[in-house]
Amino acid sequence: MPVLKIVDPATLAVVARVPADTAASIGKKYRLARAAQPAWAQLPIAQRIDAMIRFREQIVVQREGLAKILTREVGKPITQSRNELNGVPGRIDFFVNHAAKVGRDEVVFADRGEKLEEKISHEPLGVIANISAWNYPYFVGSNVFVPALLTGNAVLYKPSEFATLSGLEIARMLHQSGVPQDVFVPVIGGGEAGAALLKQPLDGVFFTGSYATGRKIAAAAGKRMIKVQLELGGKDPIYVCDDVDIKTAAEALADGAFYNTGQSCCSVERIYVHENIYVPFVEAFVATVRGFKIGDPADDTTYIGPLTRKPQLAVLKRQVADARKKGAKLRTGGKPLARKGNYFAPTVFSDVNHRMELMREESFGPIIGIQAVKDDSEATRLMNDSEYGLTAGVYTPDRKRAEAILAQIKSGSVYWNCCDRVSPRLPWSGIGHSGIGLTLSTYGIQTFMRPKAWHLKSV
Ligand code: NAD
Repeated sequence: MPVLKIVDPATLAVVARVPADTAASIGKKYRLARAAQPAWAQLPIAQRIDAMIRFREQIVVQREGLAKILTREVGKPITQSRNELNGVPGRIDFFVNHAAKVGRDEVVFADRGEKLEEKISHEPLGVIANISAWNYPYFVGSNVFVPALLTGNAVLYKPSEFATLSGLEIARMLHQSGVPQDVFVPVIGGGEAGAALLKQPLDGVFFTGSYATGRKIAAAAGKRMIKVQLELGGKDPIYVCDDVDIKTAAEALADGAFYNTGQSCCSVERIYVHENIYVPFVEAFVATVRGFKIGDPADDTTYIGPLTRKPQLAVLKRQVADARKKGAKLRTGGKPLARKGNYFAPTVFSDVNHRMELMREESFGPIIGIQAVKDDSEATRLMNDSEYGLTAGVYTPDRKRAEAILAQIKSGSVYWNCCDRVSPRLPWSGIGHSGIGLTLSTYGIQTFMRPKAWHLKSV
């Protein structure tokens, strides 16, 4: 049996060895899930809701231990691991409170004279794959498996190979909460395990990860005519207007860009600043970034930890070299830190433009480019000049001005005076290379069900 090594990105020490799946074991897991799914779907929804409420309780009670595991394998600063876990109960509450209503049968037409009724019912998709990312394993995982389980699906859950221990904790807690072993099934391994999982006759694939992998998933799923959802990366822009409080905006955006060491799909990745305030904004931004504490992610005071994946260091180095070559000004950082682990110095460039990779390709690390713009229309044009379209925002006290700009932005989510934010009540989706389909909101419950149309004529 293959073994997956779990490496602490802060020390590069191997912290665990986990048995991984093979194509044969994945096939077996699939068959067991297929056999178990109908009974799970036939339970009254109240029982599935009760299981999710018990799962929620376990997350609350076991938060500290779970946060330590997450920090150990992903390198996420411990306070941020706790924050992630603290955010999960609210999401579960949303799903639990809305699942029954969303899944209810609906009579949409009834005509006594014609003796005709039209009704919509909602059936689970069946057996789905949830192929997940490591950067927020509890968030991005629960956005999929919680509504999928509530609506009666069986889930083959492949955590990222960089968040396997957290994935196994999730499986343990769900099973202890009453979800049968064969209804929520962890599949362990890297890309090859994901690819083997896709070969099973699934009813849907729900993927969170990079655009590069998303394309492969779409190609595999497309041939099979099954439901496919892809939540991919972003190159999320923010425009700072000339009427803001400069220090407040700079501090908020530095946090939006560098939280989770810049490894969020909705991290701020590009900043456009009105030329009237460009110089003082860059100064305030750089001062904030220089104040960030870098260090051991297990330390309560650390804000910037290591990158989770070592190869990302090379991506950042390449973006730095390319930006410098094309005339950008390096304001701070710019290279890996001389210490053990995958550390990269928080990096800020000014005087950037769209010929630079830094402003075009997802960085997914502690690095940002800040570009001056002459007015709102130039900012709008530049924000839309991207293959991605996940989130975008505008900072200004003037709501009308912000809404006029945001209405023209091609993006799944838009923000006014906030950023790097996700709400369970709102749909989470991307445009272009940021993906297809959505999670969260009531649409993110519906998406795990197939609406069936009933044409009923009595005689
Ligand atoms: P990744 O694409 O490297 O991996 C994601 C998952 O796909 C992993 O579980 C991996 O093992 C699996 N995988 C890899 N190759 C596969 C293949 N050929 N077939 C099937 N599965 C395969 O992404 P990552 O590094 O885990 O995550 C980072 C990316 O995810 C970033 O681009 C980030 O923006 C994005 N992301 C998006 C969202 C969102 O909601 N839009 C949320 C979190 C992360």
